[in-house]
Amino acid sequence: MASAKPAESLTVPLLEEEPSSLLKSLYYGHVEEDLAFPYPEIPADVKETVAAFSDAYREFDAANVDSEKIDREHFFPREVIAAMGDLGVMGMTIPEAYGGSGFSSAAYCKMMELIGPLDAAASIIVGGHQSIGLKPLILFGSDAQKRKWLPDLAAGKLVAAFALTEPESGSDAASLKTTAVYDAKTDEYVLNGTKQWISNGGFARFFSVFARVPSDEKDKHREICCFAVVTAPDGTLPGLVRGPEEKKLGLCGSSTTQIIFENCRIPAANLIGEKGHGFKIAVETLNTGRTSLGAGAVGGSKAMIKLAVEHATQRKQFKTRIADFEMIRHKITRMTAKTYALEAMVYLTTGLIDRGVPDYSLEGACCKVFGTESLWENINDALQIAGGNGFMNEYPYGRALRDSRINMIFEGTNEILRLLLVLSGMKELGDHLKEVQGALKKPLENRGILTEYAHKRMKGVITSDKLTRVHPVLRAEADLFSKYAGVFANAAETILRKHGKKVVDREYQQERLADVIIELYAQLATLSRVTSAIEKKGEEKAKGEIEIARWFCHESKHRIVAALKALERNRDAETTSISERVYEAGGYPYDLWE
Ligand SMILES: Cc1cc2nc3c(=O)[nH]c(=O)nc-3n(C[C@H](O)[C@H](O)[C@H](O)COP(=O)(O)OP(=O)(O)OC[C@H]3O[C@@H](n4cnc5c(N)ncnc54)[C@H](O)[C@@H]3O)c2cc1C
Repeated sequence: MASAKPAESLTVPLLEEEPSSLLKSLYYGHVEEDLAFPYPEIPADVKETVAAFSDAYREFDAANVDSEKIDREHFFPREVIAAMGDLGVMGMTIPEAYGGSGFSSAAYCKMMELIGPLDAAASIIVGGHQSIGLKPLILFGSDAQKRKWLPDLAAGKLVAAFALTEPESGSDAASLKTTAVYDAKTDEYVLNGTKQWISNGGFARFFSVFARVPSDEKDKHREICCFAVVTAPDGTLPGLVRGPEEKKLGLCGSSTTQIIFENCRIPAANLIGEKGHGFKIAVETLNTGRTSLGAGAVGGSKAMIKLAVEHATQRKQFKTRIADFEMIRHKITRMTAKTYALEAMVYLTTGLIDRGVPDYSLEGACCKVFGTESLWENINDALQIAGGNGFMNEYPYGRALRDSRINMIFEGTNEILRLLLVLSGMKELGDHLKEVQGALKKPLENRGILTEYAHKRMKGVITSDKLTRVHPVLRAEADLFSKYAGVFANAAETILRKHGKKVVDREYQQERLADVIIELYAQLATLSRVTSAIEKKGEEKAKGEIEIARWFCHESKHRIVAALKALERNRDAETTSISERVYEAGGYPYDLWE
């Protein structure tokens, strides 16, 4: 892939000290401004490299990827996958030392922005391979394992898949049942079990498989291990059976199959990472993959805005361009502002990843949830603007809806990610609260060693840190952010104190808190991005972006206020009893005619 040779600065210098997580800090009213400001700069040589590779991919796509045919025939030609390997698409994230291009997270995400809207099935092949399939090997593999498999994975000679889900184990991934029993005589593991809905399952030759090594371990998470399962060049491996292709609502050209293990023997040397660390490996792999799903949503949203503008400016009704009707303007502005905020979040997050910030799990989850839901709404807005045409299969909206719907389900459903956003933050908050409780017992002795949070907490109510690095022109928005970040921190603490460990069952409240932290991250990323734009271009040239930031932060504030109010005043008890009656009736119990 000569044109896509990585530039020096694709590798960003790592931070000397490990700062904590940007979003976890918000739980105790602290804003790690150094993580959010300045907005990550994409160096000119990286832009050039990615632009050249984008051109090469667009050309390749036009010549080789017949997207309509792929969708119609539910088949992605295997020779096109091989050609994608030749182009270098399958090795973007693989370090140069192992034959890949060593793209930074930002560069990879920019490519995923492009690939998704051109053909969603292609993006699943590339993403299933790189975002998750081979990621355990990159993150946790030994040098010998990397040397053995990464060059072929980079060249696309091996396509990777990530095999975690099982028929009985979806969101509750730790309950997986596939076993890997060690056979000391042959120094092999023997795999048995069924993996479900595995992307690239029909043709992958390298599987990251999560299986349980039975033991006396009390913590059953600690039984889970990650294994590289590699087939022969013809795709076979004794004991590995590929199920038939699933018939899906969308992403029809992508391959999704069961992978069944029946006494499948693999060398013990294929264990990836430490024994018993499989669950951690799965979680960390998915954490890195989620940002690129957000990037795909940026690309899809931009494509929808383009279509919506084309139609709205050409179509006339009542002798007027429909673009001039205020309800259409509102949709266009809403789509644009959400896309701007999402793009800001995605590339703030890739900036954290590329700087070596160790914990970006919550930021990645925000990109995935906000991105996939914004894309869905943006497609819906674009379809509405297209009117009846939007409903016709000759237009791209229906397919976009079908293809994008899965985004809210896989790589952690958006419900599970909302739980992650709150419970991980609360875990850290709980640790800080323990410190406060301990300190209160001996306040004088502990004064010197308290964290900033404990100091603040002992003084009374938590106030969030002021944002000091937002451009003065956005002072009002920055102050609103700080105000609601403070309210959020207090609300999270109140809920944690009230429910203690039982907070895990209080999902109505968790959903509201998650929605607030997603909005806060979107605001912070937007404010940081626009501040950089003003500093670079000056206020006058950044006028459009300032307006978007104001518009987005204002709308976002209303969503935050509604969620925060509902934490205190809600109809949760009725929500439970209404749903209970419906469950008991087995459906709608109030038919007017019965
Ligand atoms: C096209 C496709 C491709 C896929 N690719 C892969 C792949 O490559 N590798 C792989 O390992 N897996 C893959 N999956 C599986 C995917 O990750 C799972 O479908 C997903 O994790 C959800 O699991 P589930 O379908 O069993 O749903 P369930 O876990 O049964 O969930 C059903 C519903 O209940 C909700 N729910 C569950 N628990 C809770 C809770 N505690 N609180 C609130 N709501 C809850 C969920 O959010 C969801 O709405 C793929 C799936 C599809 C459809």
